[in-house]
Amino acid sequence: MDPLKDSARAIARDVNARTTSAAEVAEALIPHVERVDAQLGAYLELTPELMREHARRVDARVAAGENLPLAGVPVAIKDNMCLTGTRTTAGSKILETFVAPYTATAVQRLLDAGALPIGKTNLDEFAMGSSGENSALGLTRNPYDLDRVPGGSSAGSASAVGGFEATLSLGSDTGGSIREPAAFCNVVGFKPTYGRVSRYGLIAFASSLDQIGPFARCVEDAALVYDVIAGKDPLDATSVDREVEPAAGALRDDLRGVRVGVVKEFTLDDLDAASRAVYEAAYADLERLGAELVDVTLPTAEYGLATYYLIAPAECSSNLARFDGVRYGLRVDGADVGEMYERTRAAGFGPEVKRRILIGTYALSSGYYDAYYLKAQKARTRIAEDFARAFERCDLIVSPAASSPAFRFNAKSDPVTMYLMDYYTIPGSLAGLPSLSVPCGAALPEDGTRPMPMGLQMTSPLFTERALLGYAHAYERATMHAEKLTPVA
Ligand code: GLN
Repeated sequence: MDPLKDSARAIARDVNARTTSAAEVAEALIPHVERVDAQLGAYLELTPELMREHARRVDARVAAGENLPLAGVPVAIKDNMCLTGTRTTAGSKILETFVAPYTATAVQRLLDAGALPIGKTNLDEFAMGSSGENSALGLTRNPYDLDRVPGGSSAGSASAVGGFEATLSLGSDTGGSIREPAAFCNVVGFKPTYGRVSRYGLIAFASSLDQIGPFARCVEDAALVYDVIAGKDPLDATSVDREVEPAAGALRDDLRGVRVGVVKEFTLDDLDAASRAVYEAAYADLERLGAELVDVTLPTAEYGLATYYLIAPAECSSNLARFDGVRYGLRVDGADVGEMYERTRAAGFGPEVKRRILIGTYALSSGYYDAYYLKAQKARTRIAEDFARAFERCDLIVSPAASSPAFRFNAKSDPVTMYLMDYYTIPGSLAGLPSLSVPCGAALPEDGTRPMPMGLQMTSPLFTERALLGYAHAYERATMHAEKLTPVA
């Protein structure tokens, strides 16, 4: 048993069988994480005492005869999710000193299932970004090349699992923030259907898109987390009251009879040659596993980015209005209340957050609402209809998870180049679909010295998470790409 490398399933099995204890897992992990994180910077805050306290609780519950699905499994939490008594910053100066007075439902469910909280992970400020570089509070590195970004916005959650600093982590995905960093960091990242997992205690970015999901080093572990966190929560009115079919024990090993949609508009032609070869091989592997590849079309997918960059900023401009220097975190005094608001928000928000607030406020303003926000909502409906039509011909849709493998720090200086990283993830987000990224190989970047991991995105119809995880499991077991790379940190 190696608590630093084992799967969540193996750790939980051993802790439940009492061949090891949660306390031993915690004591092995704490010094390891302190050492590795000096290089990776995945965490904004480590919580060793909380981890020990939970380990004691888990060991007592197991001794009393309970069997816990995540007994003694170390988890990291993206720092836009509340955990009582810990700082919850959203990677922003405006919340740098905010201490959460309650715990997010998804986090609470993990803890109730026996997981051990290692700490809170770094992110692009308010989850706005694709590289991690928009955090106002720290720099997170890619565990497979320290000179490259981990991806974003769930930068630390992906880096921690990819760098073996956590067995599991939680991230949030609004337009790709779980799938894209998962691809960059050689891990599985899974965004369930919108509404499947409670958003209670998640600091809101774009409420009609935000969804919590897991990072793990294998599909089965991601399924294990999904089974624990999914389901109706009375504290989140948008969480869906619909039965969750447990996925972890029911994953398939082949793709016989599965129709895999390859989207005409998601052409591989724009990728560099090495990346294209990785995806061509992945599609061929799917066929070898018994799948039938079918051509499908999403004619409105090309409007995905434009649509998202109206809807997400519009919702963010409204959600972030609450950070006013009165209720939470930072306050910079002024001559009157108006000046206090202005100074607080000017000092507290970073440039990307300000840009989104400005765009969103403009898109919602009277006179422009119909031209921008309403139009974007209509486009969103059309995109969802395109997916529904495509799924009449296939069971899942595959594509790259990101437009390129992890790039070097400061490589993308203008915002639009950064936004283009999410070209493949955003349409599915707008349609609310379950979607994941699974490691599918590695390519040596032209400016690189080490092969960088890449992710295959799989997307399926609403509420078909169990089937989706099954397809990914079959592909993963047959290819085992993640195990071919070793982190440098
Ligand atoms: N990169 C996208 C953005 O910046 C998506 C972020 C996310 O999914 N939270 O908005």
